[in-house]
Amino acid sequence: MGRIQLLPAEIVTKIAAGEVIERPASVVKELLENAVDAGASRIDVELEGGGIDRICVVDNGCGMLPDDLPLAFAAHATSKLQCLDDLFAIQTLGFRGEALASIGSVAQVLLQSRAAEATEGASIRCDGGQLSELRPWNGPQGTRIDVRHLFYNVPVRRKFLKSTATELGHVCECVIRLALARPDIHITLRHNGKGVYDLPPTVDIRDRIALFFGAEVRDALYDISGGDTVIRLSGYVADPSCDRGHPRMQYFFVNRRWFRDRTIGHALQEAYRGLLMTGRYPVAFLYLSMPPQMVDVNVHPTKAEVRFPDSSLIYSLVRGTVHNRLMRANLLPTMRLDSANVPHGPVAAKPAAVPLTVATGLQSLDMPSPHRDDPPPRLAPLPQYDPPQTLPPVASAPPPSCGTAVTPNAATQPDATATLPATMPTPEPISHIATPAANSPPLQPVLQIQDTYIVLETDAGMLVIDQHALHERILYEQLRQRVMHKNLEVQRLLVPEPIDLPPEQAALLLAVTDALASLGIEVSEFGGNTVLVHSYPTLLSARPVHEIVAGIVDHLMRYDRLPSRETLLHDLLATIACKAAIKAGDRLSPEEIHALLRLRDLAEHSQHCPHGRPTTLLISREQLDRQFRRT
Ligand code: ADP
Ligand code: MG
Repeated sequence: MGRIQLLPAEIVTKIAAGEVIERPASVVKELLENAVDAGASRIDVELEGGGIDRICVVDNGCGMLPDDLPLAFAAHATSKLQCLDDLFAIQTLGFRGEALASIGSVAQVLLQSRAAEATEGASIRCDGGQLSELRPWNGPQGTRIDVRHLFYNVPVRRKFLKSTATELGHVCECVIRLALARPDIHITLRHNGKGVYDLPPTVDIRDRIALFFGAEVRDALYDISGGDTVIRLSGYVADPSCDRGHPRMQYFFVNRRWFRDRTIGHALQEAYRGLLMTGRYPVAFLYLSMPPQMVDVNVHPTKAEVRFPDSSLIYSLVRGTVHNRLMRANLLPTMRLDSANVPHGPVAAKPAAVPLTVATGLQSLDMPSPHRDDPPPRLAPLPQYDPPQTLPPVASAPPPSCGTAVTPNAATQPDATATLPATMPTPEPISHIATPAANSPPLQPVLQIQDTYIVLETDAGMLVIDQHALHERILYEQLRQRVMHKNLEVQRLLVPEPIDLPPEQAALLLAVTDALASLGIEVSEFGGNTVLVHSYPTLLSARPVHEIVAGIVDHLMRYDRLPSRETLLHDLLATIACKAAIKAGDRLSPEEIHALLRLRDLAEHSQHCPHGRPTTLLISREQLDRQFRRT
C-alpha cells in the first residue's frame, strides 16, 4: 500500500461533482435553482440529446457583474451566505457555492450574464475546469448558461448515463418539482427543438397539476389547510379512487423547496388508512411553510432531504389535516361500467328525494352538496356508545318471504320485529327500527340481491352496497371507538379455554398479548403447545373461541415481521370486524337492511371497508343513460 497523500485539487472537484452532478437532471436542477435565487420571473430550458449533448438555461433574473463571472465557477464561492449564522436560516435554494464549480469541471460551459445595474454584460467559458478570459456580452438582463457534452472528460460517469428518453424523464421530473414549488414563474422546456412544457405563471397550483398529470387528477383533489401561524400546511390531496401503485405522485415542499420525506409519506398513508388497498398510495401535493430557522436544509448533498427539529409535530400535522379533510369529503366510488367511455372517479353523492332515514326520531342526515371544493361535513361524529344491550338470539324462523324486496310498508308489518343477527350491534333497541312513528316519512324501497348486495335509489342514480363490507366497516369503527374510550364489552370465561396451536403459532400469538389485551382478548401461556383464552369481545360471542384465535393467528402469519402497534391494532380490529360481520349469502330481513343503512350513515369512512375495498358503488344516472344509449 502506498503512502497517504492529499488528492490534487482537480480530483477533489470531480469527487464533489460526483456527488452533486450525477446526470443531466442534476445540472438542470442546479441551474433552475440559481435562476430562482436570482429572482427570475421567466426561465427557459433547452435540451439536446436528453441534456447529455446540451443544456441551456436562460433567466431574466438579477444577473451577475462581470467581475463575478470567474468567481461563480470557483469551488465554495457563493453570494448567498455571508456568515455561519446564515446557514441556520437559509432563504435561498442554493447556498454551498458548489454547483457551477462542479458543472464547470465535468462539461464545456459558456456563462453569459448582465446584471440589472450594468450597461454591459460579460461572458466566460469554463471547459473541464479551465476558465477562459472574460469577454463583453451584449445580451439582455439576466443569465444564460450553456452546458455542452456533460462528462466528456469523465468517461466512467458518462457510461452510467441512461437512454435519452430516461434522462429526459429525469429532467422533466425536476422541472415538475420546481414548477409545483413556484407557480408564479413562467417556465418553458424544449427538447431537440420541440416544446415539452410551456407553463405560464398562475396563482392556482391546480393549473399546473392538471397540465402535468391531467384533468382527472385535478378534479379529484381536495384542498387541505392546517397548522398555526408559525407552521402552516396547505395544498391538495386526491380522492382515494385516484390512487397509484407507487408513492411518486406525492410532492412535498417546505418554504417553496421540494423535498422527499419518508415520515411524511407515512403520515399520508396513515391518513388514508382503510381507504386504500394494500400497496396503493395516495396522490398528494403538500406545502409546508415555517420560519427558515425551523428547517435544516443542509443535510443532504443534493438537498433532496431536510430535517425538522420536531418531526413528530410535522407528522401529526400532516396526518391530522389530511385525515380530517378526507372525513369531510364524501368518498363514494363510482362503478366503472365501461372503462372505455364512462368517466369514473369520485362523484359527490346526492341525497335521494326520500331521505335515508327511518322513523326512529333520528335526525335527517346532513347530506353533502355536490360541490367538491368545500362540502359541509357529512359524517356525523360517532356517538359515544352506551354499553351494548343484550341482543335477542338469532331468529331461527326461516327468513321472511319479503326479504328480497322491501316495500315501504314492510317495516310496519306485525312480524317486523324480526331480530338482527346476534353479531350486529345497534345503538338503540331494535323495536325502534321496527316501529316507525305514525307521521314518519315512508321507508325507502331497498332491494337485497343474491343475499349479498343491497341496492337503493339516490338522486344521483343508484347505490349498490356490499353488505359484508359495509357491516365490517361499521363494526370496525364501533370497535375502534370503544377500544379508544376503553368501553369495549368483554366476555370473561369462567373457565379459560385451552387452544392447541403449533409452537410457532403459539409464540406468534403470545408475542402480541398486549395488543390483544387492549382488544379484550386475553391470552396466556399454558405450556406445551397450548394457550389459554381468558376473555374476548362480546361482539364475537357468536363465534367459537378457537375460530377467533385461528383467524387472528392466520392474520399474524402474514407478516414478515411484526408491524407497529398501531398497524397491528388496526389489522386485528379489521380481522375481528370481518369475523363478526354478516356474510355475503346471509339473507337479511327488511329491518336488518334498514338498520344497516342507518348505521352506514353514522360511520366514518363508510364508503370503504377496513381493508380498503369499496363498500358502496354509485351507478349514476348518466352512466345508465349512456349505457342505454339515451345520450
Ligand atoms: P450557490 O447557488 O450555492 O451559491 P452556485 O455554484 O450554484 O452556488 O452559484 C455560485 C454563485 O453564482 C451564486 O451564489 C450566484 O451569486 C451566482 N449565480 C449563479 N447562477 C446565477 C444566475 N442564474 N443569476 C445570477 N447569479 C447567479
Ligand atoms: Mg446554486
